[in-house]
Amino acid sequence: MAANLSFDLAVVGAGIVGLGCALAAATLGKRVVVLDRDVQANGASVRNFGFITVTGQERGEMWARARRTRDLWAEVAAEAGIPILHQGLLMIVRRPEAVAVLESFLRTEMGDGCRLMSPAEVARDHPEVAAPSLLAALWSEHELRVESRQAIPRLAAWLEARHGVVFMRETAVLSIDTGRVDTPHGQVRASAIAVCPGDDLTSLLPERIAAYGVTRCKLQMLRLADPGVRLSAGVMSDLGLVRYAGYAALPEAYALRARLEREQPAHLDNGIHLIAVQSADGSLVVGDSHHYAKTPDPFASEVVDGLILDEFTAAFGRPAPPVIERWTGTYASAPNRAVIVDAPAPGVRLAMVTTGAGASVGFALGEEVVQDLFGGAVAGGAQAWRMKG
Ligand SMILES: Cc1cc2nc3c(=O)[nH]c(=O)nc-3n(C[C@H](O)[C@H](O)[C@H](O)COP(=O)(O)OP(=O)(O)OC[C@H]3O[C@@H](n4cnc5c(N)ncnc54)[C@H](O)[C@@H]3O)c2cc1C
Repeated sequence: MAANLSFDLAVVGAGIVGLGCALAAATLGKRVVVLDRDVQANGASVRNFGFITVTGQERGEMWARARRTRDLWAEVAAEAGIPILHQGLLMIVRRPEAVAVLESFLRTEMGDGCRLMSPAEVARDHPEVAAPSLLAALWSEHELRVESRQAIPRLAAWLEARHGVVFMRETAVLSIDTGRVDTPHGQVRASAIAVCPGDDLTSLLPERIAAYGVTRCKLQMLRLADPGVRLSAGVMSDLGLVRYAGYAALPEAYALRARLEREQPAHLDNGIHLIAVQSADGSLVVGDSHHYAKTPDPFASEVVDGLILDEFTAAFGRPAPPVIERWTGTYASAPNRAVIVDAPAPGVRLAMVTTGAGASVGFALGEEVVQDLFGGAVAGGAQAWRMKG
């Protein structure tokens, strides 16, 4: 029984952040146990687009974490048999103010590996986009896309088989303290503990989480039938430029936001921006919206879905295929803070991604947490960037 064993690291939560911590520690040869209350992953990590985005992440640490995480996904996916379904991002825009944001973005260090495309180039290389209103597109070579509902279980199975990580499922963690994790099945002993609870803000360390002002964000997601064309990359549109901090913090984004407030106020009110990615069977995963509450309601609004589909039609210049699946997801959200790494007790860390970027930064965050807990060398882009910075 794992409950009678002792480990170097106990991880609470088998979402991508917990698996990132497990991967970093197992790579260092540590004995790792991951505990999760659910039978299989069921949180944000399997409800998302599986879009590992670099371009558009907040400038500085988040962007560096995303680059490192992308590299690790490429390595791990190959070893764990996780198909990479897209490589790259196509940001298609139809307003001059949006083109100005893209041009400004390209002048920053974050424009590395990105380029601006004319409508003629888009028509030649990406015929899936047929919008007559298209003015330009940003191509980024950095992004990857995996099918999360398949990738997360495969990642866990690979950690178990390749690295000997022990998984204790159906095991709610009731309390933690230095060196110990209490569960209904007994106590697990570990010299270090990483609590990665996703958007569970109340079961463990509630007062520490509350101190950061963390709330939750609900998103609506759609799967659309195969449109009969192949997306060559993940696709985003003008609305993403005022949502993703890497673009939205640029001065040129103010004019774009002002125009969007006039032209698409309902989209902005519902926190809608477009991401469209394609699955192996040709179906599209399309979203999303953002509504914030401590306890978000579980209901998916048809009006919100309609707004997402309107943006799809406007951006692609083709009607949205029929909806074949709908779901909502939630993630933790904090004001002015994209990640939290907190030290509530010696040898214990709380690790949360508090913006919609856990798939994109989770592996690098795992490395940071493990380095913080154990010290020693963890080769990492985020760490390297910090040292340079
Ligand atoms: C709809 C949607 C779309 C998104 N799209 C993207 C995207 O394309 N790209 C991207 O980078 N990010 C995206 N995100 C964000 C990303 O999915 C999250 O940031 C990330 O999944 C959070 O991972 P996590 O491991 O912290 O949380 P989770 O995946 O929620 O995992 C937390 C786990 O902890 C367990 N747990 C909590 N408390 C306990 C306890 N006391 N005992 C035992 N187990 C416990 C839960 O059961 C759960 O399995 C999206 C999120 C959503 C909801």
